Amino acid sequence: MPPERSTRQRLAVRRALEETRAPMRAQDVQAVAAASVPGIGLATVYRALKSLIQSGDAVLVELPGDTPRYELAHHHHHHHFSCRACGQVFEMDGCPGDDLATLAPRGFAVDGHEVVLYGRCAQCLA
Ligand SMILES: [Zn+2]
Ligand SMILES: [Zn+2]
Repeated sequence: MPPERSTRQRLAVRRALEETRAPMRAQDVQAVAAASVPGIGLATVYRALKSLIQSGDAVLVELPGDTPRYELAHHHHHHHFSCRACGQVFEMDGCPGDDLATLAPRGFAVDGHEVVLYGRCAQCLA
């Protein structure tokens, strides 16, 4: 594949993540990217996502029981809200942080955590 074509596809994938500002499945990325690169294939989207992860521009978001999702790499620590009705995943600001560490058994050292909230998003509640 000529490099300029591959760069254009990678850019379209990156823009899709930027526009949506939420963790997206590869299929969702493909649908958005197709607006600027008509006919972009899923394999190409995966390749572009992999390359964005390798360069540190994107990260993989893996929620229990969910398809892997991708989001732009942020330099701030954050968590996700998963809507049980529409299946969308949203970013949340804030973190209980040190409060979580108090749940660990006595004498244990905590060095990380995963927090996912489940429920219904504002749009599904409306
Ligand atoms: Zn929803
Ligand atoms: Zn946290």
